[in-house]
Amino acid sequence: MKRIFNLFLSLLYPEVCAACGALLQHDEKVVCLSCQYLAPKTGYENVGDNPVARIFWGRVHLHAASATFFFAKKGRIQHLIHELKYKGNQEAGLFLGEEMGKALHQSAFFSDIDVLIPVPLHPKKVKVRGYNQSEIIAKGMMRHLPASLSTHHLVRAVATETQTKKSREARWKNVKDIFVVNRAEELAGKHLLLIDDVITTGSTIEACAQKLLEIPGVKVSVAAAACAVN
Ligand SMILES: [Zn+2]
Repeated sequence: MKRIFNLFLSLLYPEVCAACGALLQHDEKVVCLSCQYLAPKTGYENVGDNPVARIFWGRVHLHAASATFFFAKKGRIQHLIHELKYKGNQEAGLFLGEEMGKALHQSAFFSDIDVLIPVPLHPKKVKVRGYNQSEIIAKGMMRHLPASLSTHHLVRAVATETQTKKSREARWKNVKDIFVVNRAEELAGKHLLLIDDVITTGSTIEACAQKLLEIPGVKVSVAAAACAVN
């Protein structure tokens, strides 16, 4: 009976790929096989000197930095991230996280990560969206990376205005000193991995990393689902 009901439901609301919108085959989940195959991967996790790492040169000392996918306008990854951020599609974020986790688990730069720290979203935004998209990505990563998740050590104190149309300097003034670290002693000496959805100027990540680097003995690395640089 339940199977018949599910079949009926799938006829009414056919499941579509979160990356391209095509109908999913019965053995496909969330993202269709051709999108899984064609999504543009960077391979940056195995290259110390890569375009994402270079964003932070001279700004903050990171152990390693990477993004798993290239972000192209109207591309599959943009579609997936849009689903995650604006359509309530948490499965899209789990998929991205799983792909990141698989890639990082095999990388010498990231294999000793202890704690995943999603870039904190302002509580007001969490309220609107229902979740922090970077936290969903981190949960997907944990399916392949033996690390713990922290959402309470690094927190955002003040709201920022929408950052999309500002220069790097203007963004930096906005985000500087708005992050706070609680119970820092619990993170001392660990390899921390900051998680974000898309890296563009890196200003928010930089501010987070600066705060985390005040903790004694830590290594700080960065992983994003996608980057707009190549
Ligand atoms: Zn697809």
